Amino acid sequence: MKNCIFCKIAKGEIPKKFGYQDKDIMVFDDINPLAPIHILIVPKKHIKDFNNMDDSRIWNKMRGVAQVMVAKKGIKNKGYRVVINGGGAQIIDHLHLHITGPLGKSAKM
Ligand code: AMP
Ligand code: ZN
Repeated sequence: MKNCIFCKIAKGEIPKKFGYQDKDIMVFDDINPLAPIHILIVPKKHIKDFNNMDDSRIWNKMRGVAQVMVAKKGIKNKGYRVVINGGGAQIIDHLHLHITGPLGKSAKM
């Protein structure tokens, strides 16, 4: 999608260090971290938002990559959050999961 910053990152038009990538998914640090670890799990293909996510293969891959990244980042047992902003709460209209942590046990919604 033209003028989509995450599509530009996916195409290599904006350089980005990936924590993980494969043909479908990319993972990188959030540029404005809200926790010591704040990463984004992003499908390379443009999916506008959560309500437009109907690709079960990619969705399942995002889940799997998120689980691996939580473990790899050492926050599996230290309190973490997986968040999707939608319905206008999002800044970037290209689906992404936020993973933030460590949050400890007291961090509740
Ligand atoms: P959302 O409000 O869910 O759309 O969140 C978008 C997130 O993308 C924000 O947390 C931004 O800090 C982050 N972000 C925006 N541009 C970049 C970028 N070029 N690289 C990494 N993270 C970004
Ligand atoms: Zn996009």
